[in-house]
Amino acid sequence: MTETLHHWAAGAVLKTDGDRFADVTDPATGAVTRQVALATEEDVDQVVAAAKAAFPGWRDTSLSKRTTILFRFRELLNARAGELAALITAEHGKVLSDAAGEVARGQEVVEFACGMPHLLKGGATENASTGVDVHSVRQPLGVVGIISPFNFPAMVPMWFFPIAIAAGNTVVLKPSEKVPSAALWIAELWREAGLPDGVFNVVNGDKVAVDGLLTSPDVKSISFVGSTPIARYIYETGTAHGKRVQALGGAKNHAVVLPDADLDLAADQAINAGFGSAGERCMAISALVAVGDIADTLVDKIAERARGLRTGDGRRGCDMGPLVTRAAQERVSGYVDAGEREGARVVVDGRGVAPDADGQGFFVGPTLLDHVGTGMSVYTDEIFGPVLSVVRVDTYEQAVDLINANPYGNGTAIFTRDGGAARRFQNEVEVGMIGVNVPVPVPMAYYSFGGWKNSLFGDTHAHGTEGVHFFTRGKVVTTRWLDPSHAGLNLGFPTNA
Ligand code: NAD
Repeated sequence: MTETLHHWAAGAVLKTDGDRFADVTDPATGAVTRQVALATEEDVDQVVAAAKAAFPGWRDTSLSKRTTILFRFRELLNARAGELAALITAEHGKVLSDAAGEVARGQEVVEFACGMPHLLKGGATENASTGVDVHSVRQPLGVVGIISPFNFPAMVPMWFFPIAIAAGNTVVLKPSEKVPSAALWIAELWREAGLPDGVFNVVNGDKVAVDGLLTSPDVKSISFVGSTPIARYIYETGTAHGKRVQALGGAKNHAVVLPDADLDLAADQAINAGFGSAGERCMAISALVAVGDIADTLVDKIAERARGLRTGDGRRGCDMGPLVTRAAQERVSGYVDAGEREGARVVVDGRGVAPDADGQGFFVGPTLLDHVGTGMSVYTDEIFGPVLSVVRVDTYEQAVDLINANPYGNGTAIFTRDGGAARRFQNEVEVGMIGVNVPVPVPMAYYSFGGWKNSLFGDTHAHGTEGVHFFTRGKVVTTRWLDPSHAGLNLGFPTNA
């Protein structure tokens, strides 16, 4: 008998009303390890009701009490981060060190949110008009929904919930049904940290759960991260139901290597950014744009490094783990087949890799394709696997044109020793996050994370001050305390005097 995971509401497990369940697998072995409930509409209503009931009390809890709980959550997570990393590896497959890195990046947002009293300070103006003072405050929205993808079971939810909670909202998190355990583990940690029941809730499920959140009048905002078609659907449906929505989508990230670059550095970083987490990162580099006559040397250097990587079970000290599901493994291999058919050169072939793992895991080894054309599906589509495609161009301008013609605009990087070229690049590319000799330029928690074009629907990025803005509403209060000299009626429009 495998364990069955349900929902979490009002500080306790909430069992599903329904009979729909999905398998959760260990991608390194292929074994089914758990079942997860797929919420019914009634389940969603119950979880949202728990969050709604908790909102007034949490909103009125002082900032100092709220942040004390956040500090406690931080300490508990620091002490037990290894447990969470192990859960992530067991369901996602990424290697343990990578899972630990994800927890650490999520923790940075908790630390940022610990500063909420400062972040929520409003402005005040004395004597804006004679005897009239004005001040502004930001107040929480109410119940906020978070819908997250499989590839960061802890970090992506943590981009949102620490800020939402610190600002006085109550949360319903809908994690990916492929990796449900991290969210439930986090729910228990919140309880241990002293968070009142109902402030952090989890509903497990698929489209039924998502649609329930999108259409519920009690859910005031949606923070979504996932693939572009679903992000677009979430944005359109959520806003049509009167919610504020930030919907982060897919990506196709290019790294440009200029002829003057340090090619060893560029090759190292191409490996890290292309094959880290088996390429299942929205900031993975999947297209390497080699400018000028360096391509042969660069491809040789990357190939040599790629062949030295150890692929296998993420608990065995390997460099790269499996893909998340059998379907993902088949999809990625299918893209490599198509690239080969369409004329790309398969320099390093990860199909049929012999992994260091037991069982029937979902492995594709590091794969390097050269001479990739912009019409090939390996270039046009987000593969979301360990496949690095080298596109050769003659000039810097052609490299920038490629990036700007791409429908996605999440991240990009340039490798060069020329500060002027890097400065021009960061100004000219239509992409939200830019790295200069940094391949995966994920912003710190006190900046905001988000792409352009089809990589983000809505105008608000995740975390940083944009996150605080997203999870609060502004209010401006104009005050006059009458003094004894006041007298008279005036029906005219109030003007400054
Ligand atoms: P996904 O879009 O399949 O799923 C994301 C969430 O949406 C999950 O919770 C899932 O249950 C739900 N969902 C799936 N299909 C749905 C449907 N038809 N209707 C309603 N809800 C649905 O994405 P994924 O495969 O879990 O994650 C990988 C994708 O996420 C990649 O495209 C990756 O680039 C993207 N991603 C983007 C960022 C970013 O910051 N832009 C970060 C991480 C991942």
